Amino acid sequence: MATFDYDLFVIGGGSGGVRSARLAASMGKKVAIAEEFRFGGTCVIRGCVPKKLYVYASQFREHFEDAAGFGWQVGETSFDWQALIAAKEKEITRLEGLYRKGLDNAGATILATRAVLVGPNTIRLTATDELVTAERILIAVGGHPTPHPGLPGFDLCISSNEAFDLPALPKAILIAGGGYIAVEFANIFHGLGVETTLIYRGKQILSRFDQDMRQGLQSAMVAKGIRVICEDIIMNVSETEDGRRSVITKAGETLTVDQVMLALGRVPNTGSLGLETAGVATNEKGAIIVDAFSRTNVESIFALGDVTDRVQLTPVAIHEAMCFIETEFHGNPVSPDHDMIATAVFSQPEIGTVGMSEEEAAKAFDDLEIYRAEFRPMKATLSGRQEKTIMKLVVNAADRKVLGAHILGHDAGEMAQLLGISLKAGVTKDDFDRTMAVHPTASEELVTMYQPSYRVRGGQRV
Ligand code: NDP
Repeated sequence: MATFDYDLFVIGGGSGGVRSARLAASMGKKVAIAEEFRFGGTCVIRGCVPKKLYVYASQFREHFEDAAGFGWQVGETSFDWQALIAAKEKEITRLEGLYRKGLDNAGATILATRAVLVGPNTIRLTATDELVTAERILIAVGGHPTPHPGLPGFDLCISSNEAFDLPALPKAILIAGGGYIAVEFANIFHGLGVETTLIYRGKQILSRFDQDMRQGLQSAMVAKGIRVICEDIIMNVSETEDGRRSVITKAGETLTVDQVMLALGRVPNTGSLGLETAGVATNEKGAIIVDAFSRTNVESIFALGDVTDRVQLTPVAIHEAMCFIETEFHGNPVSPDHDMIATAVFSQPEIGTVGMSEEEAAKAFDDLEIYRAEFRPMKATLSGRQEKTIMKLVVNAADRKVLGAHILGHDAGEMAQLLGISLKAGVTKDDFDRTMAVHPTASEELVTMYQPSYRVRGGQRV
């Protein structure tokens, strides 16, 4: 039998890679993990974690304004961008340390190098040019924002990677895209006092979300003062004499801003990884093709997380990692279940959602009951803020199964996590109806919508 340097070699120290390496090492397997940059991956270093910290930072302006309605007088306030960056950096460095410590404690070998495949069981460590072998290789190298090279002046634009550490907070920013990242950053920058414009090619932001969420959020963003340009795209970006960015759109508008941020999707990090040499197949987007058990077409090579472009979410990568370990090292084949994934958009107000949108459900089922509530959250009664919370349940009339639950409002992400459990368990509307409300909360509305607001039969609202 062939002998290898390692039982498992993991390429990539993000959420999926670290979880896999740590679990395998803690079983006593000989494990190495190579990371060329910082442990934690997109989520910890330049994604979910710093994003959420910046969301909190951007909410204070409204909190200060709202305070007066509750009797508080807040004195003069000011915001220090560099102080936020420094605080964020401290926190992600702490988390990075925890990732390393977890790997260390489990007994994994940490390699600070880029690693490339040179065969089905062989990896080259580029820092030392050393070759190492492993019985199994796991690729968990994630993705990066698409640079959109077809756009003249794309190199003058930033992506979410740079947005966290800009040398100075821009006075005005233009953000291209209508997905998670564009929408979240538009709200962050606006909250921090930046004159913010979002440009999106479609009719309304967040194309894959329920119509009520899209409409409700876009209206709320516009009401706050974010300019949202729809059905238009950037055609050209150039630098002005004073170092700003001049943008020409397809509709013929010219905008001058300090930064242009492109948030037009993310692509897998499969370049220069030696995939062709090792014979690993990729799809037309460059993502590694895997089966339900994260196996590539090469028996000894596996891939999971964003590099496989299944669902680009941290918890999904972690779940895929746990299934991979269970299957390969515990002899218990389990495949990740990608159905009914609850998710949140950390916009302001937030969106929390799980299951089908009304539009998706209308295509799949003949008769739907839609329960919808739109109301002013309690806090807004005293703060005077003009804002609305929207809650919506999409129910299959035939068996009363709740197919989708969608919330726009404060803490919608937290609610989506809990609703996700119920919907995953196959909850019916009758279960909602016999659940006692928690009062006074916003979420009690979810269990007190007794009559459908309308029905959708044969795809038509009746
Ligand atoms: P998304 O896929 O969410 O959005 C991409 C946006 O870019 C869409 O609005 C899309 O338009 C638009 N777009 C794509 N190509 C072009 C083009 N050629 N010209 C103009 N517009 C274009 O990607 P993001 O980059 O926002 O985020 C990447 C992924 O990261 C997300 O899918 C999500 O899985 C994950 N993520 C999750 C977060 C969370 O859970 N809160 C937060 C941030 C990211 P259209 O809709 O018309 O196709």
